[in-house]
Amino acid sequence: MSNPSVPFLDLVTPHVEMKAELLAVLDKAIDTAGYAGGNMVKSFEEEFARFCGAKHCVAVNSGTDALRFAYMAGGVKPGDEVITVPNTFIATSESITQAGGNVVFVDVDERTYNLDPAKLRAFLTSTCKKDASGKAINIKTQRPVTAVVPVHLYGQSADMDEIMDIAREWGLIVFEDACQAHGAEYLSRKDNTWHRTGSMGKATAFSFYPGKNLGALGEGGAITTNDDNIARICRQLRDHGQAQKYYHDTEGYNGRLDAIQCGFLSAKLKRLPQWTEARQRNARRYTELLKSVKTVTPPFEPEWSKAVYHLYVIRVKDRETVQKKLADLGVNTGLHYPVPLHLQKAYTHLGHKAGDFPVTEKAAKEILSLPMFPGLTDEQIGRVTDAIRNTCTE
Ligand SMILES: *Cc1c(COP(=O)(O)O)cnc(C)c1O
Repeated sequence: MSNPSVPFLDLVTPHVEMKAELLAVLDKAIDTAGYAGGNMVKSFEEEFARFCGAKHCVAVNSGTDALRFAYMAGGVKPGDEVITVPNTFIATSESITQAGGNVVFVDVDERTYNLDPAKLRAFLTSTCKKDASGKAINIKTQRPVTAVVPVHLYGQSADMDEIMDIAREWGLIVFEDACQAHGAEYLSRKDNTWHRTGSMGKATAFSFYPGKNLGALGEGGAITTNDDNIARICRQLRDHGQAQKYYHDTEGYNGRLDAIQCGFLSAKLKRLPQWTEARQRNARRYTELLKSVKTVTPPFEPEWSKAVYHLYVIRVKDRETVQKKLADLGVNTGLHYPVPLHLQKAYTHLGHKAGDFPVTEKAAKEILSLPMFPGLTDEQIGRVTDAIRNTCTE
């Protein structure tokens, strides 16, 4: 008798469990015609800002718009260069282009898959000089290098102390892409205090796409920031550049988040801490059970990080075979991401070739995302790890 398969994620159970609460949000919206703006938006923004430890939260219609608005409001100007990593979802970089910037890639750390501060420093010292006002200029392109975007990939914070120090030295603005890292924590060596993602950089983008750790029942995103001016400009950008109805300071976008989604998100945010704990527990169990499989490299969590395990990503040689055999055994897995951004067709104009970012390229061939969601059972984890043990040691 064959076992049922193990899904990669479960978006049914959590919503069925809280259906009454979600329907109450709909009732409230219908009874008050509260669809755009209003109290449900304001409340969610206050709650999420508090959750992140940030002064402001501006709810927008996607993580991609959150990134774009953050870049625009935070000071990226047309023609500027903005540094990010090649192993992320394309939203991180396409939003740089949409804000008028030029994408520049710097490779990641072998163990955390996040921006490698040493490589960031090496790029700046080897390729950039400071102009009279102390701003970084790319010697090859003669363009200003304005900002750096660490991505907290898979739910783990990048090494923010190092990145912030280098950024300060070179006059770069730091934007966090926390689209996978709601509630992830970073221990700063400066104040020996844990900080949540979304409270460290100049501005941070979050996504509430359904599969994210905090997901809407549809599309959604938010910017968090401690900067009053950035928050104000983001509010205008999401609403056609209006400071006041029909008075437009600039052109903007229709980038608002629906009131109903904000109501759903408020209800789900209350449960996020317990969901995060369940993810962390599942991750510990995976790592414990995979310890004996020598060909598998589990995720690495430095002592300064409390990851929220949006994804649980292992490394294996011969990944294609392993993934296929796991599929045959009913274990659904994912690849995040199979093709590094610098080798995507969309970026041929950047002129990169294989070998330019070796750490990202090697990871892309070996990574495998295992099933991960709060409701994953011990029995399912056991089934996944048994399947891996059988596949990897035969
Ligand atoms: C999901 C995601 C985004 C984009 O968010 P959307 O809400 O889908 O627009 C950006 N960056 C990363 C790293 C993501 O995982």
